[in-house]
Amino acid sequence: MTTSIVLFGPPGAGKGTQASKISEMTGKPQISTGDMLRIAVSEASDLGAKAQSYMESGILVPDELIIELISNRLKQEDAINGVLFDGFPRTLNQAIALSSIVDISSVISIEVPDEEIIKRIVGRRMDPITKEIYHISFKPAPDEIQGRLIQRKDDNVETVMNRLKTYHQQTSPLSSWYDDQNLLIPIDGNKSIEEVATDISKFLSN
Ligand code: AMP
Repeated sequence: MTTSIVLFGPPGAGKGTQASKISEMTGKPQISTGDMLRIAVSEASDLGAKAQSYMESGILVPDELIIELISNRLKQEDAINGVLFDGFPRTLNQAIALSSIVDISSVISIEVPDEEIIKRIVGRRMDPITKEIYHISFKPAPDEIQGRLIQRKDDNVETVMNRLKTYHQQTSPLSSWYDDQNLLIPIDGNKSIEEVATDISKFLSN
């Protein structure tokens, strides 16, 4: 049976970083609703215009837009053998909609305390060419690319606080919903990128 994996956790837990590693290991394409929405905003599409103000305030984009985005993405050929969801689902409605369209084999939950998240997100930078994520103190970029690094518009202290509040109110209750279905795999995300990747790969190879 074809199954998909959900990568779950607060903003800044390292989901994007770990997702590319898991994608390589499993061959399942990474589907990040955050990345898809940022592309929609940069292309000034209808969806982008609708999503932008929510994203900039650190609150969730309405479920119906997200569910439509995901349903369309899952129709693409590369999704046929299951996918890796990154940053989706984020509400119970999204999770219920998802469970009616795909089979989930596991929900990898990367757990990181709030104080650590704020430090991580505010120092986060991205290379727009390679899409590699760096951090001003924890993972500095090479000198030659420093000048082209960008910071996400929603990676400032005020928006991060809203994103965390949104996460605790609307998203984190999903962990017990998935745990009740015996799908939740808690992973301590308060470790180095390599250690977290090792813990996830131990679980995936079992
Ligand atoms: P992310 O890159 O996953 O942190 O997402 C950035 C922003 O995009 C979030 O703060 C939300 O405004 C929006 N977003 C991403 N994924 C979802 C989702 N599954 N449901 C609702 N809003 C989302």
